[in-house]
Amino acid sequence: MALSLFAGSAGNAATLLEPTLHLKPQGVEGGGGRVALTLDACGGKTDTRILSALVDNRIPATIFVTGIWLKRNAEAVGIMRAHPDLFELENHGGRHIPAVDTPQKIYGIRSAGSPDAVQAEVESGAAALAGAGGPAPRWFRGATAEYSPSAIGMIRRLGFKIAGFSVNGDGGSLLGAKETARRIGAAKDGDVIIAHINQPTHAAGEGVVQGLLALKQKGMTFVRLDDAEGIGNDGTTD
Ligand SMILES: [Zn+2]
Repeated sequence: MALSLFAGSAGNAATLLEPTLHLKPQGVEGGGGRVALTLDACGGKTDTRILSALVDNRIPATIFVTGIWLKRNAEAVGIMRAHPDLFELENHGGRHIPAVDTPQKIYGIRSAGSPDAVQAEVESGAAALAGAGGPAPRWFRGATAEYSPSAIGMIRRLGFKIAGFSVNGDGGSLLGAKETARRIGAAKDGDVIIAHINQPTHAAGEGVVQGLLALKQKGMTFVRLDDAEGIGNDGTTD
């Protein structure tokens, strides 16, 4: 009896996907390769170590912002808007709720839990960006970067490409500086790096800067997602 109840409840939870994203191979001989840096601004504040390093070293980045973060970080948004050649702002949802349409927890965060709630998360994130001025977002990345397969289809029908990644740079901002720098510094041609720009007190942020400077020194080119043809799996970009 207990076993069948357990099987029943497990059957309701969707199998989650964590899609990857790569850039189309550059195909330029002698080039140092190119990578896309994506930084999530889930909530909280702004890591000015990273923001300053990007501006000072002219490193372009795609920033995934939530409605929550936009409201609380007007100064950082102003800096990003002042450098449209460097920063592309994309949709990380209205309230940082995982885009999973069945009720379950992912890394301790409660999922949206229904198709309507997934749609509300995606649309409220886009509305928050529109309200903050600037171009309409074309990419979506849900909180935790995990999705139910049906949510992926829904997000695509709402007109967004879904931003996976190929290098987990900072382990949810929880890694130390050294390991973060090592992971980011090891990125190869075509990689899409994910890290966070909303945890100014974490050691990982220092590692993000070190890793990026190492890549730049190696001659790597940085592109935003809108500047490159990203190829995702699980139906996230095609
Ligand atoms: Zn996030």
